[in-house]
Order: sequence, then C-alpha cells, then structure tokens
Amino acid sequence: MWASTVDRCAGNVAISSGMPSVFTHAFAGFALGKAAGMKRSVRFWLLSLLCAVVPDVDVISFYFGTERGSMFAHRGITHSLTFALLLALLVVWLGFRETKPFTKRWWTLSAYFFIVTASHGLLDALTNGGAGVAFFAPFDSTRYFFPWRPIEVSPIGLGFFSQRGMEVFWSEFVWVWIPASVIVGLVLLYRRLRPLLK
Ligand SMILES: [Zn+2]
Repeated sequence: MWASTVDRCAGNVAISSGMPSVFTHAFAGFALGKAAGMKRSVRFWLLSLLCAVVPDVDVISFYFGTERGSMFAHRGITHSLTFALLLALLVVWLGFRETKPFTKRWWTLSAYFFIVTASHGLLDALTNGGAGVAFFAPFDSTRYFFPWRPIEVSPIGLGFFSQRGMEVFWSEFVWVWIPASVIVGLVLLYRRLRPLLK
C-alpha cells in the first residue's frame, strides 16, 4: 500500500510499471492453456506465453516520455480488447498455418489466444496502482480498474528482485497463482472423472 501511494504521488510510472509481474502474466497464460485442454505443442506454449506478456511492450513509452493517459502510454492500446483480438488472429495466422480459417479449430485457437492476451489487461485492472486499463481503445480512451483490486502493483524490471518485489509476488501468489491452480486442478480432475461418471 505504502509503495503504491508513493508511486502514485510521485507520478513515477517508470519505477512502478503498474502490472502484475511478468511471471504472473506468463503463469496465467500457462493456466489457461492447461484448462483449455487443446492438443498442445511447444509452439502452443511459446505463443501462449508471448500473448500473456506482450501487452507490456508499451513500457517502451516511458523512454519516449509519452503523455500519461495517452492511448500509447502504458496500459493503453496494447492492453485493449481490440489489440487482443488482432494479436490472436495474427498468432493463429502465422503460428498455425495448417489451420484453415473459420474451421472449428481455427475459432477455438483464435478464441483461446484472445482470452490469453485479454487476461493480461484483466489482471492489470485488479492491481492497486499504476494507470487504469484502456480496454476499449482505440474507440474509447477511458482507463478502467475493477472496483476490487487485491493485487499489489509490481515494480518493473530489476525492481522486482527486491523486498517490495517479494511482497508483490506474495500478493500475486495468493490472488492469482493459488486460485488459478485450484481452477486448473478442478478442470483436470473433472476431465479425469467424466468418463467414470457416464
Ligand atoms: Zn500490463
């Protein structure tokens, strides 16, 4: 709490990136992939991780001094649902060339990569600091947070490997890793048990 207040007061978004750590975004991608239960390859996992973390390429805007709140600032356009949709289509097009467009597999893969990419912005909107998420950019630049924001905002880069970084990781562990693991466990258990229930 203390740290996020300092971040906000100082307006120092270069220190606080305003995101759950890259590990937690990657874990969210992994958990979604596990729960999706599709035929999974190394390619599938690498693209899942890529989609889960790539929205934060916008941290580059800090170095260009992009105006805070702009669509191109952190948690702007690359955290939007439009971006998630376009990235999902691009990933399926480039990464799964053998999949014919508009087949059942194509729709499933597209929906899956959309959800993985969109999960990034959803997690960011659950953090207690940084900027809100421009879910509806480029059509609407309003920044959103969820009313309930239990996740400690993460420091960027090497700042993560610090006392505060550990506190952040603990809050992510409690609010993301544990619930996601339980859900994935239940999904896998259900799949195991389903044949026995018939
Ligand atoms: Zn982010």
